[in-house]
Amino acid sequence: MLKRNLNIKLKSREEIDIMREAGRISALALKTAGKAIEPGISTKELDDIARKCIESNGAKPSFLGEDGFPATACISVNEELIHCIPSVDKIIKEGDIVSIDVGACINGFHGDNTKTFACGKISEDAKILLDVTEKSLQKGIENAKVGNHIGDIGHSIQSFVESFGFSVIKNYVGHGIGRSVHEAPSVPNYGKKFSGPIIEDGLVIAIEPMVSVGAPELEALKSGGWNVVTKDRSLCAHFEHTVAITENGTFILTLV
Ligand code: MG
Repeated sequence: MLKRNLNIKLKSREEIDIMREAGRISALALKTAGKAIEPGISTKELDDIARKCIESNGAKPSFLGEDGFPATACISVNEELIHCIPSVDKIIKEGDIVSIDVGACINGFHGDNTKTFACGKISEDAKILLDVTEKSLQKGIENAKVGNHIGDIGHSIQSFVESFGFSVIKNYVGHGIGRSVHEAPSVPNYGKKFSGPIIEDGLVIAIEPMVSVGAPELEALKSGGWNVVTKDRSLCAHFEHTVAITENGTFILTLV
């Protein structure tokens, strides 16, 4: 059955071009903050670097003030998964894995991207986790094409991740993106083939697999749902790109 989600706002070619710029600045902020990761730096310092990069490019941080979030980037270390508030007290150490999730808004449109970086030499487990999570994002992008279903994206991510014995996080999902940083549809990192809305020309979504070495259950350490960690404190990783899906192909917008 053809399922059409009427809440989905498809983008014109002109809108996608603006989103390319939002994506470029988001990617630049991610890259610049990622390059600054070293033992002894605080997550607040990394956040300041991301913010300066976005603002010096004439854009605004997408997450600042979103649901009351007080910073530019969510910066999550090791067993921390998502929505961690940068802090002067959170100091990065050699061997940590550090996820930076950052978005930028320019000319009314948003970009959103995430990468988990290694600080120096990391464990073999952590290396495999980062590699599998990044590759699962590529699998998801390969399946994000006109005529496929949203469920095809999640199915490809989940089956790839689980073949390595890792867990896909189900509590948080990818999303449509445009004039709002979070729009319809939801883009789960799990699911069945041929399920969910059909992907149409002009759909722009953020695909963002989150993967843990252990169990997928989570808990929030701060009230308000911030600082989410794996319940079993196992390592977790998070990679994300904003992609535009058109009849001429699927394009990653968060590139620099
Ligand atoms: Mg996102």
